[in-house]
Amino acid sequence: MLRFMKNVILAVHGGAGKQTPEDLRDEVRAGIEAALRAGQAKDNCVDAVVAAVRVLEDNELFNAGKGSVFTADEGHELDASIMRGLDKAAGAVAAVRAVRNPIEAARLVMESTDHVFMAGPGADEFAVRGGLVMVDGGYFSTERRLSQLLELKGTVGAVAVDRGGDLAAATSTGGRTNKLTGRVGDSAVIGAGTYADRRVAVSGTGDGEVFLRGTAAGTIAAMIEFGGLDVVAAAHEVVMNRLTALGGTGGVIALDRDGTLAAPYSTETMVHGYLTVDGTVVVV
Ligand code: ASP
Repeated sequence: MLRFMKNVILAVHGGAGKQTPEDLRDEVRAGIEAALRAGQAKDNCVDAVVAAVRVLEDNELFNAGKGSVFTADEGHELDASIMRGLDKAAGAVAAVRAVRNPIEAARLVMESTDHVFMAGPGADEFAVRGGLVMVDGGYFSTERRLSQLLELKGTVGAVAVDRGGDLAAATSTGGRTNKLTGRVGDSAVIGAGTYADRRVAVSGTGDGEVFLRGTAAGTIAAMIEFGGLDVVAAAHEVVMNRLTALGGTGGVIALDRDGTLAAPYSTETMVHGYLTVDGTVVVV
């Protein structure tokens, strides 16, 4: 059965993976709702996805920003990207270690440079020059109880359509637990973890290497543009068939300009929620 929702203007995910432990379920749901409310307060799609992702980055229950998983050398390296569908403007940062909200750094790359992708210390220095809030590495670390939760899930993201019919997508992550220093995942890569054009906005979560090899988010958009599929069929085909054939699991939120949201996942669960045009918030 293909699951989809209608009249959606904003959706967020808090990572695909295993079920959230019972004792943390309410807090996770509250975090998703808070992100949707933050996005609801904005009236253009880029502001909405940044506001929603920021709230999730600041919430240590999610593997992005504060509360990110540890690299093999017990540090944190964060990836984030954003794309505006109207003109395919995009910005991304990878392996940053000091900017508090990587999604804001990605937005700054998109809006204030003629580059798309910045990585490592140069990206952190760019964030400093851009006036973003910087923190030391300890800020991102969480206590053991939460670290165990983060092994169960990953990554946050948002997709939005505004009144003008413009779409945007944003994704942010601490990456994979125990990843090698220097590893960059799909969440930083336009076309893999994030994509938006005039038809659809996509944010993914799951086995990043497979999302990269399968150019997951971009393939969903291409199937809609060139293959004549609708958002529900395209998202399903990529997540349930193509990525699994490459040996990976995960999920996406994919929103078209008419407000149809597809949220397929091949993992046990994908924490997500959405806001409809009449103001209803649903946390799944
Ligand atoms: N896709 C993310 C990464 O590989 C992780 C996740 O979504 O769980 O960095």
